[in-house]
Amino acid sequence: MRVFVARTAGFCWGVRRAMDAVLDASVSKRGDVQTLGPLIHNPQALSLLNQRGVNIVETPEEAHGGTVIVRAHGIPIQEMRKLKVRQASGEILVINATCPEVAKVHSRIKKWSAKGYFTLILGSHGHAESIAHRSFAEAGSAIVSNLDEAISVPAEHLKKVLVVAQTTFTTKDFNLIVDELKSRSIDMIVENTICEDTRRRQEEAERISAAVDCVVVVGGKNSSNTKHLTFLAQKNNKPVQFVEMASELNLDSFQGNEFVGVLAGASTPTWLVDDVVDVLRQHGSRPGRLKELLEEPLVSPVLLSSGMSVMALGIHSWMGLTRDWTSIFVIFAYSMSMYLATPFLDPFGLGSKGPARARYLERQKTVMISLAVLALLTALSLGIHQGKGYALAVACASALGLSYKLPIKFLNRKFSIRAIPGSKDVFGTLAMAIIGLVLPAWQQDHFWVWDSLSALLFAGALVFSRSIILNLAHMQKDQILGRETLPILIGRSRSQFLMYALLALAWCFNAAIAIKTMNTRAFAMLTLCAIYPIVYQWIYHIRFSAERPRFDPGVEPAFFLVGLLAL
Ligand code: SF4
Repeated sequence: MRVFVARTAGFCWGVRRAMDAVLDASVSKRGDVQTLGPLIHNPQALSLLNQRGVNIVETPEEAHGGTVIVRAHGIPIQEMRKLKVRQASGEILVINATCPEVAKVHSRIKKWSAKGYFTLILGSHGHAESIAHRSFAEAGSAIVSNLDEAISVPAEHLKKVLVVAQTTFTTKDFNLIVDELKSRSIDMIVENTICEDTRRRQEEAERISAAVDCVVVVGGKNSSNTKHLTFLAQKNNKPVQFVEMASELNLDSFQGNEFVGVLAGASTPTWLVDDVVDVLRQHGSRPGRLKELLEEPLVSPVLLSSGMSVMALGIHSWMGLTRDWTSIFVIFAYSMSMYLATPFLDPFGLGSKGPARARYLERQKTVMISLAVLALLTALSLGIHQGKGYALAVACASALGLSYKLPIKFLNRKFSIRAIPGSKDVFGTLAMAIIGLVLPAWQQDHFWVWDSLSALLFAGALVFSRSIILNLAHMQKDQILGRETLPILIGRSRSQFLMYALLALAWCFNAAIAIKTMNTRAFAMLTLCAIYPIVYQWIYHIRFSAERPRFDPGVEPAFFLVGLLAL
């Protein structure tokens, strides 16, 4: 089965912004966090928010202290005024997460209403966004949801009329209805307020559904923009499954060799889309066990472990160490064993990374654990070969890595290293740096040398950057699931600043050494390696983050680039 995922599938920027506001408030400890009405139309995301202590209140009066967040769809102006009054008296704190695209529609309606224009909103009856729009229309308003309703709009409403759209309305219906209304009105202002994100999502839905054999739409059953995507796919006469999550897929309806297109609404979390995609990819013409193992679970650990080893090779050379292949293999084996074993040591079970990943981990369990044990034994035996101190350090780092997620009992109290905020980023970086760089430098009596310490800082900064970039990318999901990463602990901008500062500091020290030794090649390589994570993050997670990239190289190429220092 071939699966094609829409680039636009997942949260739009307005919903992501609102979700960030809620999650930031939930960790800021400023009392209870409540949203006025459901934040988004997705029951799975809402139930996870509820587990994080975020509640829904239906009216401003129901809010009982703490923080009240106004959702992306916006709320009627009368409700906003009531909230502001309560905020002014110090009862609550209001965070307005209304999407700026929605707020733009409010200001258009306000402007033309003041000039006596009746407002027609092309949208869904009873939808929170349309209700909020109507509250700004002082000269009267009505909702028109289809052509039939447009035909029956009374003539007196069309004398002086403003036509706007709910931001998630379909472009085709908007044009059709506007044409009908224009033919009957002499003074009509038309503002196409369908947002850019919706437009791109709908265009892509039409393109994909025309090209595939069948379509799966992922999203909340109450979400109007998700329903529109289903409608667009159906118009192309393709079988459509509209599911909220992977477990609702009717897999029996697939033969196994179809071309399936996956679409998702603006309020569908990316991880729900990924689950559906994983389940589809593993259904039907699933690769054989060996092929699956080589394609899926082994690729990332092998890539990352090779990257770490190649980087260690380059850094050894930059430190001026004699090349020591044993320590290079130790880091490869150690890194492989940790990445292969840790999913099986998660107290939340294999399902914590999604149902499809859980299934293939279950199928490949024996092979993966055997490979992890083999890699661990290899790392330990090579460590013993290097000397007692080396072996002890590898054993300690392995024990730390393997017990990272496990609950440990100490002095009658249970805790886990994972519960220490930011531990994954800090301990992970430290373990790799100690095994791959500190120990070899120590053995060659070359540790307390300025060049070695600078090189160590450079490698540490790159490993740390990878960790921070991944954590920033998964921040919303981690926050919802209650995982404590450094960006969650200190915030997005501080984490980014820390990463940039560390990279800049590491680059300055090492560039100074390269300049002093007139090594222009090393200077160029170091500069490239330090810039790569920043450019990667900007391209893939800041500038074009609204769409799914077809190809994502990750931060690992920076590790391989450092290896060039060994040439
Ligand atoms: S669909 Fe558009 S208007 Fe609505 S929240 Fe998303 S970006 Fe904002």
